[in-house]
Amino acid sequence: MLSIALTSCSAQPHPHTTPQASPWTSQGNSKQAQASNDTPSTRNTGSTSSPHTRIESLTPSIPDKVPAAPVKPTPEVHTETVPAPAQQQVVPKKAAKTQAPPKTVSAKTGKQKQTNHTTAAAQNQRLTLSQLVKKYPQLLRLRGSSTGKKVALTFDDAPDLKFTPQVLDILKKYHVQATFFIVGSQAEKHPEVVKRIVNEGHVIGNHSYSHPLFTKLDEQSFQHQILQTQDTLHSLIGYRPRLIRPPYGEISENQLLWTSDRGYLVVNWNVDSMDWKQLNEPQVTSNILHHTKAGSIVLQHSGGGSTQDLSGTVRALPHVIEKLQGQGYRLVTLPELLNVPKGK
Ligand SMILES: [Zn+2]
Repeated sequence: MLSIALTSCSAQPHPHTTPQASPWTSQGNSKQAQASNDTPSTRNTGSTSSPHTRIESLTPSIPDKVPAAPVKPTPEVHTETVPAPAQQQVVPKKAAKTQAPPKTVSAKTGKQKQTNHTTAAAQNQRLTLSQLVKKYPQLLRLRGSSTGKKVALTFDDAPDLKFTPQVLDILKKYHVQATFFIVGSQAEKHPEVVKRIVNEGHVIGNHSYSHPLFTKLDEQSFQHQILQTQDTLHSLIGYRPRLIRPPYGEISENQLLWTSDRGYLVVNWNVDSMDWKQLNEPQVTSNILHHTKAGSIVLQHSGGGSTQDLSGTVRALPHVIEKLQGQGYRLVTLPELLNVPKGK
């Protein structure tokens, strides 16, 4: 039976719907990297992850709880593996653990050694997110230009019936346009919410069909996640979204190149609200405002599963908008920030 477990896009799981999935149970990656606007390319090292909530896995082969942290070949994180924030984010204590560094080989016998060596070699060839950003700065974006005081608010794991409508109400009140990264399976359940997002002037991006960790998928399954969601969205909104945000922000080099060849643009973020950890309003507000600069892409969530509580995000949003606007920032969609078309 399929279970859907939403996890946060960031490196942890966030539950979404699932019977047994314990929401936000997270696993391991607790670090999140928030990148600062400054120089992602310089500072990234691929070690952080950010959470975002994400969603689920419909495929039996994909564990609800997402990636086990221990031996991840990839940066555990997704996302942002980006540079460590200049300032510490507000994170709940339990989430503040640091991740254990990726293990590398440890062999006891000669034979094992060989095997481990091979594994290690394969792992070494796998580029971390920060390495990918450095190598393909135009294909994997974490932020926009710092010229002009523009900031993009983004909401992952939409749509749902509880939080997405509340976020939309607030955005409408302040006349702010944002970008929503949609999970295909959720769009099929709540098509009217997807249409509302578009009708109110926001932009839609592709956040996979069932929110798996892309780096655990074979190429065919990965492509299916993108294409199935694209078809679903096209039938609902009339265009094929150009923007893709991988669940947990994680993507392999081959997958990144595939998206580029097909005319997509992969966009992560450099400011993580950490809202998927169900932080309260002051924490969410602080995480955003302390790291946002001109060109920032802010990660928040508007969905995540029946046990996910995003009320901190909802309550923080008016303050975040008022504060940023008061500081002279213009809140724009990702296509406007990055100067790219919304469709392909
Ligand atoms: Zn997500």
